[in-house]
Amino acid sequence: MSEAFTHISSDSSGHVIMLSEKFVEWAENESELFSDYAEKLIDKDDKIHISKGEFEVCETCRGLGTVVHPAIDSQGLTQEDFQEDPEFREDYFTGKYDIQCPDCNGLRVTFKPVFDEFLKELINKFENEEYQYALELARERYYGY
Ligand SMILES: [Zn+2]
Repeated sequence: MSEAFTHISSDSSGHVIMLSEKFVEWAENESELFSDYAEKLIDKDDKIHISKGEFEVCETCRGLGTVVHPAIDSQGLTQEDFQEDPEFREDYFTGKYDIQCPDCNGLRVTFKPVFDEFLKELINKFENEEYQYALELARERYYGY
């Protein structure tokens, strides 16, 4: 999921995407053209109406609409976990620990918006910088300085 925007809703006029505050702030510094662009396309709530895009099978839940609660298996489960506790195994595989998928809200698909070139380039650059920054933080944490 991108930090640049969140998908808000779909209606008959298309899809409404909300640009994140962080992105809007960044974009205003990054490009002089952005405020002009924003004035034309983005309403006062930083929402942007997107008509192009497609639905893709949700990567997080692989189209199931549910995921196992992260508290249960985000640390990774091993064969032993199941062997030692058959009841847990049963519950796990019958979906007792499933929650609604947070990325598609149980819809099984996510909307991938298609932005025009200008916005697409900005978003790519933003995401790349975010990624580099996250890498740097991880590196600092790892080496402890
Ligand atoms: Zn999903």
